[in-house]
Amino acid sequence: MRVEIDNDSGFCFGVVTAIRKAEEELEKTGTLYCLGDIVHNSDEVQRLSDKGLRIITHEEMAQLHDVKVLLRAHGEPPATYELARRNNIEIIDATCPVVLRLQQRIKQSFATTENRRPQIVIYGKKGHAEVNGLVGQTAGEAIVIENIAELDRVDFTRPIALYSQTTKSLTGFKEVIDEIQRRMAPGVPFQNYDTICRQVANRVEKLQHFARNHDVILFVTGKKSSNGKVLYGNCLEVNPATHLISNASEINPEWIEGADSVGICGATSTPRWLMEEVKWKILSR
Ligand code: SF4
Repeated sequence: MRVEIDNDSGFCFGVVTAIRKAEEELEKTGTLYCLGDIVHNSDEVQRLSDKGLRIITHEEMAQLHDVKVLLRAHGEPPATYELARRNNIEIIDATCPVVLRLQQRIKQSFATTENRRPQIVIYGKKGHAEVNGLVGQTAGEAIVIENIAELDRVDFTRPIALYSQTTKSLTGFKEVIDEIQRRMAPGVPFQNYDTICRQVANRVEKLQHFARNHDVILFVTGKKSSNGKVLYGNCLEVNPATHLISNASEINPEWIEGADSVGICGATSTPRWLMEEVKWKILSR
């Protein structure tokens, strides 16, 4: 049986940078707080926790003083930076530059004088850390929509500026644009900004090519990863024998029975070592 790991799967540069920053600090001091999971992969979080990383919530951060806190690639709203200032917390900022740019663009849209300000609409997942960071740039005013059905909350007689969470699918974003254009009142400005991260979007084609070339696909991802769900769906589209697993312990031997080739791939939050473990488990059956 041929077992191959997809070389284009695994950490994106935003996650690589966040983990490098965490490891550098942990080597120096042995302890570091991180606001939220550093990556949506519980096995990788556990590996870093064993080195001294302590994952905290916003409520827990509010109780801390005079410590260092790492902000992960998803970014944070301005309120988190204010809290850090109040509590004399040193921020190690690992916000991905792509997210940072998006935050700045939304902030600029919102800074337009009130009577000329467009409705800021964000195509994304409500409550997702990145989306919370984006909404925070608008004092909570941005309208977050997860699908076309939720567009009813938007006023089509007023100007609209549409943005997207970085990990959403290009197809979904295009559908939202088409629907807004269809419903917009005549002559009212509608601007849309494609802010989808190409580290994710560009993977789709390569991933589907990889998925087509194997009898069975094992897609390795943490259960909390939005990007993982999207990319898993992309594999499933072209190869119905695609299975989602968090790690090697979840492999069902029946899936690979009689297969000539098995492909292993993952999300932008899937560490390479986890995919290697899956490969090893299959080969050592
Ligand atoms: S997916 Fe893109 S935007 Fe998100 S952390 Fe990775 S590189 Fe940054």
